[in-house]
Amino acid sequence: MSQQLTLALSKGRIFEETLPLLEAAGIRVTEDPEKSRKLILATNDPAVRVIIVRASDVPTYVQHGAADFGVAGKDVLHEHGGEGLYQPIDLNIAQCRVSVAVSAGFDYDKAVRQGARLRVATKYTKTAREHFAKKGVHVDLIKLYGSMELAPLVGLSDAIVDLVSTGSTLRANNLVEVEHIMDISSRLIVNQAALKLKRERLQPILQAFEQAARRSA
Ligand code: ADP
Ligand code: MG
Repeated sequence: MSQQLTLALSKGRIFEETLPLLEAAGIRVTEDPEKSRKLILATNDPAVRVIIVRASDVPTYVQHGAADFGVAGKDVLHEHGGEGLYQPIDLNIAQCRVSVAVSAGFDYDKAVRQGARLRVATKYTKTAREHFAKKGVHVDLIKLYGSMELAPLVGLSDAIVDLVSTGSTLRANNLVEVEHIMDISSRLIVNQAALKLKRERLQPILQAFEQAARRSA
């Protein structure tokens, strides 16, 4: 296996918040994914490249070795299951939480007390299923791929399970957070074969990430 390294990142918050960690490892991405349509980005190190993939696809690329390492949210990793992935470091970036939210007028506690069957819209079906099973609440899960906040507003669901950080999107849509399911941050994930075969190249980068993440924790 060549000692070329491929890092999988998603655009937006994770890309932005990973840049300083890469910087700490002496790696500078020389192209801006928000401006370029390129999906493979060069860095100042000819042996390191960055691929831009959908956040929920990062574990898949790393699991299959198409990327040697990547950065993914705990929300995404929990849904994926994490098979074939080594997860050495919590990077403490892209922090938020997974919560249950409902329309301001919906009495969630009462619905739960009465044993009502809840319609829950989410892209986090595994996380939601486990959460409501633990509470003993019967749910019909409705799988969505985005804009979960809309579902209760138009009668698609009673509740949503979604990411919350400041709560301003919920407030803007007249929704209230009624339960906190888990705290989220992003983790470094590494392909298990790459970890062995490319250890020499990977180790210094992992170390730099770990130190930088600890400093900002
Ligand atoms: P997508 O739009 O592809 O679903 P996002 O770019 O919204 O993905 O989110 C990618 C990852 O960034 C999420 O999996 C989560 O870990 C993190 N994230 C998303 N929204 C927030 C937020 N508001 N605050 C902090 N981290 C977030
Ligand atoms: Mg998003």
